[in-house]
Amino acid sequence: MKTEISEHLYEKACKWMPGGVNSPVRAFRSVGRIPFFVRSAKGDRLVDEDGNEWIDYVCSWGPGILGHACPEVVDKVRKAVSDGLSFGTPTRKEVELAEMICGCMPSMEKIRLVNSGTEAVMSAVRAARGYTGRDKIVKFRGCYHGHSDGLLVKAGSGLLTGGVPDSDGVPASYTAHTLVAPYNDTEKVAEIFREYGSDIACLIVEPVAANMGVVLPEDGFLAFLREITARYGTVLIFDEVITGFRLGLGGAQEYYHVRPDMTTLGKIAGGGMPLAAYGGRREIMDCISPLGNVYQAGTLSGNPIATTAGIATLSVLMNQPEIYGQIAEKAERLADAYRSHSGLWVNRVGSLLSVFFTDRPVQDYNSAILSNVDAFAAYFDYMLENGIYVAPSQFEAMFVSAAHTTDDIERTVTCIRELDMDKIDRWQ
Ligand SMILES: *Cc1c(COP(=O)(O)O)cnc(C)c1O
Repeated sequence: MKTEISEHLYEKACKWMPGGVNSPVRAFRSVGRIPFFVRSAKGDRLVDEDGNEWIDYVCSWGPGILGHACPEVVDKVRKAVSDGLSFGTPTRKEVELAEMICGCMPSMEKIRLVNSGTEAVMSAVRAARGYTGRDKIVKFRGCYHGHSDGLLVKAGSGLLTGGVPDSDGVPASYTAHTLVAPYNDTEKVAEIFREYGSDIACLIVEPVAANMGVVLPEDGFLAFLREITARYGTVLIFDEVITGFRLGLGGAQEYYHVRPDMTTLGKIAGGGMPLAAYGGRREIMDCISPLGNVYQAGTLSGNPIATTAGIATLSVLMNQPEIYGQIAEKAERLADAYRSHSGLWVNRVGSLLSVFFTDRPVQDYNSAILSNVDAFAAYFDYMLENGIYVAPSQFEAMFVSAAHTTDDIERTVTCIRELDMDKIDRWQ
């Protein structure tokens, strides 16, 4: 593998950007390497500046459900570009995309388009607070909802006290209203609601957690959250930035038959462009300015190029819903190959999966962090040497796209099966 040009670019990048990157996980630090710099991508392959080619299971961290440079999407974007990049006025395409999204997810009676998942979540929480007139929010340990101040929180030693910021630069007072519970732990959630229920504006959850590695909701967990939030008049927010249009056109809420009050979307919804959305029940969304007093705005929100990519991507998925069964099947082929080794734990739902370097079940943050991250780093190296790019961290998901060819899946399966666990284990 040649790395000369990437090394050179990385050195320069580190001079001009913190860690040489514009988002931390791209720096490959948790696997003790330096990143490769991608020049272009097509289908399920990435090509870097040194000419190396990888089968890609990161898919831009989720958006790439149709693979890279999907012709149906790229052609429409090319046409849209020539019509102008940004107008700052309403456009037909915003209406079209809103109609498509609300049609796929009936719990979203009204939506607003924004530019990132972080922004969608931040705005949804503000709307929930404005609607309820309450301050407190509940989140789960290990769930990621973007990097807004109030959500960068880990549980304090006393679970029922306000959260402790997870990042420098966040005043403790900003997270004082954030309560944190362990994922899949209905007892703890019930305890929090007994103590604070009437002060809790919203409970936000990844209906399938995919930012501590993939962790599935246990039977009844989401239904329990629906029931207890309804009982206390708390807004239930599903953060479907990853699962939306990933588990199906109706997202995790359709997959698990639980209807939240609000939903956040991103990643696939923008088809690879910076676009995200939040929405939900009409009476909540009508609190947003200019109808109501919850302020939220954006110069580039609903950008015509981003909406074009979103519409084109969702159109392909709506016209070919069989894609979902196909990508789930491919993901299961991979999951099955990992299961051929002892010492690994695999979680999968649809086309989302994670392999954990532990033989114990992974059902929350505490069980996820029992994984051997050194063994993971050795595995990451091995995959990369075999031309396969998986996320450079134990705590990220593996994404399968419609562009993954049978040949490339089988090549990956072979590579996984030939993984020498004794060699990997020596890293412990
Ligand atoms: C990626 C992600 C976000 C943040 O989205 P950005 O576009 O990176 O700001 C929020 N929630 C979940 C569940 C995510 O996976």
